[in-house]
Order: sequence, then structure tokens, then C-alpha cells
Amino acid sequence: MNHADVVIVGSGVMGAATAYWLTRLQPGLRVTLVESDTRYEKASSSLSASSIRQQFTCPVNIRLSQFGIGFLREAEKHLGLPDHPVALGLQEPGYLYLAQPEQTAALRTAHQIQKQAGADVALLGPEALSQRYPWLNVDDVALGSLGLSGEGWFDGPVLHQAFLKKAMAQGVQRLHDRVVGLNHSATHISAVRLASGGSVPCGQVVNAAGPWGSEVAAMAGVQLPIEAARRTVFVLSCPEPLPHCPLLIDPSGWWLRPEGRFLISGAEPLHTAPSLPLEPDWAEWNDEQWASLAHRIPALAALRVERAWAGYYEMNSFDHNAVIGPHRELGNLYFINGFSGHGMQHAAGAGLALAEWMLLGQAKTIVVDELGFERLAQNRPLRELAVIG
Ligand SMILES: Cc1cc2nc3c(=O)[nH]c(=O)nc-3n(C[C@H](O)[C@H](O)[C@H](O)COP(=O)(O)OP(=O)(O)OC[C@H]3O[C@@H](n4cnc5c(N)ncnc54)[C@H](O)[C@@H]3O)c2cc1C
Repeated sequence: MNHADVVIVGSGVMGAATAYWLTRLQPGLRVTLVESDTRYEKASSSLSASSIRQQFTCPVNIRLSQFGIGFLREAEKHLGLPDHPVALGLQEPGYLYLAQPEQTAALRTAHQIQKQAGADVALLGPEALSQRYPWLNVDDVALGSLGLSGEGWFDGPVLHQAFLKKAMAQGVQRLHDRVVGLNHSATHISAVRLASGGSVPCGQVVNAAGPWGSEVAAMAGVQLPIEAARRTVFVLSCPEPLPHCPLLIDPSGWWLRPEGRFLISGAEPLHTAPSLPLEPDWAEWNDEQWASLAHRIPALAALRVERAWAGYYEMNSFDHNAVIGPHRELGNLYFINGFSGHGMQHAAGAGLALAEWMLLGQAKTIVVDELGFERLAQNRPLRELAVIG
């Protein structure tokens, strides 16, 4: 097969965003995306809750979200094509983290980090919360942290397709095939091997295989601590409207947000083994969960569960943070993996950072050095504490 300057393994939102930025920064670069499932049935990018927040505890994640919200607001300008407008449906009602008395110290610490990083967030006491959200029960709530701008949700699959279509319009090729091996020495990858029998000689390789990122890394003898961590999302209907409802994170661990005329919600999983079958875990929908939702939002005593779906977080079991950048010995192998359930909002910034790293030797627009592979090699975790569900 023809030589490619860059082969990207996986064309979910990370592979597609990387391909888009590479060919935008360097028109004419020969970039090939290899994707085993062009229907994206199991891809995280199809099964995401597609929300964006500024409320992280690692400044690098806040920087990626700040870039992300700016990009989403102008998605049409960046990604629009004459026959493909980008209808993202971005809404920004905020995220609201609720804390009980013993959780307020952690909320205040996170707030300081976020303010220092320039996030538009506010701490609200129970009275202010009640005034803003009369449908919310705050009897046992001591404090809330609300994103005043730059937080909300959008149509993730539309963003994914827009990156893909724009990248292909810029000359990126997509092969429908599975990468089954990497031809490599101790310092260099020379080609990717395909299930169909061929191989693609290449200059650089990107691992954008989402929840399957550790399998692709293993083809080069590299250990990457990424697990396919199943999460279930329940679609609920509520008989009463919940005006200005944000993405709510309850002190007990569940989250909930509006989705059209419905609500969607998820909780910390009951079963945590990696690579569980991609089916909703109905055991998570139980009396305690319902009671907890109805305690927080009394109108939900009369809710209906409409349906549920399951998707994989590409969970970095080392520190719940992304890995972006090159491997230290195999210098032409790059990672964009392990976003641990917050990758859709970071795809635009992460793809740009990686493209700059590959073309210029360094990420320039957004400093993401902390997310490099080096920290894994040196056993220096960079823990993100605000991981939802
Ligand atoms: C239930 C759920 C809720 C979420 N909520 C949010 C949220 O609110 N906000 C947010 O920002 N993020 C959220 N996320 C996370 C976000 O969706 C992911 O971080 C993001 O989609 C990851 O994209 P990806 O391209 O890395 O992976 P994927 O979309 O999984 O793409 C990887 C692709 O690689 C392909 N592939 C794998 N191995 C090979 C191979 N050997 N050869 C060829 N192709 C291969 C796969 O077929 C797949 O299409 C959520 C995820 C889930 C599951």
C-alpha cells in the first residue's frame, strides 16, 4: 500500500480531530485513518453524554475545556462544509456540583484551582440554590458549585462526524480495516499491519483507539493502562418541567441533565470489571437510586425510565487523565488516549495539541506537557479528582 506520512489507528472523535488538525496545519500531509467499525457502534464517541465543564481539579483539563468551549461555539466556522452545516445544539446551563457538609472543603479547594485557571464558576449556599432552582431539594446541601458560563452539552456524534468530514475534505483517507500489528524496532515503527492482509508503511503512528488503546499499544510492546470501563446512561421522563436545569452532580455520586424533552442520568457503576459486555446494567436502576433522585428533585417521584444505553469510558486506571504525546523510546508512536469519560469536550484541544507536537515538536497553543507519556514511565500520577460516575 501507499506510504502515509501519518497513520492514525481509530477514527473516533480523537482520531478524527487529530487528522483534521494535522491537515489543517500542514495541507498536503498524507494522513490515513484506519477504522475497524465505520458504523462506530461501540465507539465511545457514539455513546457519549457529550457534556462540557470547566470544573476540573487539574489546570491542564481546564485549559483544554476553555479551548473546547471556544471551538464548539464557533464549530460552524471551523468545521462547516457547503453541504454539511454543523448543528451542534450547544447549550450552556452549567454544571452544578452539590456538597454535603463533609464535602465542602474539597469543593472549596477545587473552586480555588478553577478560579486561578480563569474558570467562570461560583459557590452558592442553599438559599441561593433554592432561589435559582425552586424544584431542587437542598435540605441536606451545604454548598453548590455552579459554572456560570462555558459549561453545558452538545451533540457529540455531530461533532465527531464534522471532524471526520472536514478532515476527509482536507485530503485525509479513511481505510475500513483493523490494525492487527505494528512493524517496529526498539526505536521506530515502520508500518501498520492490517487484518485484510496488507500493511501501510508510514512515518508516524497515532494510537487513537479509545477504549481499545492498550491493545494497540501492546502491538508495539508498550503497556498503556487503559481499560474499557462500562457506564450505563438511563433516559428518564419527568412529568414536571425543571426550569434552567444544569448538569447536576449529586453528593451521592449520580449525575443528571436534560436531553431534549427527557432527562439522562448515570451513577457510579455497580460492576467495575474491564470490558464488560456493552449492555446497560439494569441492576443500577434500583429502589435506592430512584429514592435518591426523588429526594433531590421531588418531581422525580413520578419519573418514568424510557430506555438505557451503555458505552465504554476509555479509563486510564493509572490516574484518570489523558495521555497525549510521543512514547519516549519509540519516538514516532504518539498517544491520544485515556480521557476517562471527559474526552468529547477535550477532542478539539487534544487533537490540536497532538498535531502541533507531531509537526512542531511541541504543543504550542495549549500547554499539555503534564499529560505526556513520561509520567507513566516515571510513575508520577497526575490525578484528576473530578471524574464523574
Ligand atoms: C456513557 C459515556 C458518557 C460520556 N460522557 C462524556 C461527557 O459528558 N463529556 C465528555 O467530554 N466525554 C464524555 N464521554 C467520553 C467521550 O465520549 C470519550 O472520551 C471520547 O468519545 C473518546 O473518543 P476516542 O476517539 O478516543 O474513542 P472511540 O470513540 O471509542 O474511538 C476509537 C475508535 O478506534 C477504533 N479501533 C479500536 N481498535 C482499532 C484497531 N485495532 N484498528 C482499527 N480501529 C480500531 C474503534 O472501532 C473506535 O471507532 C463519555 C463516554 C461514555 C461512554
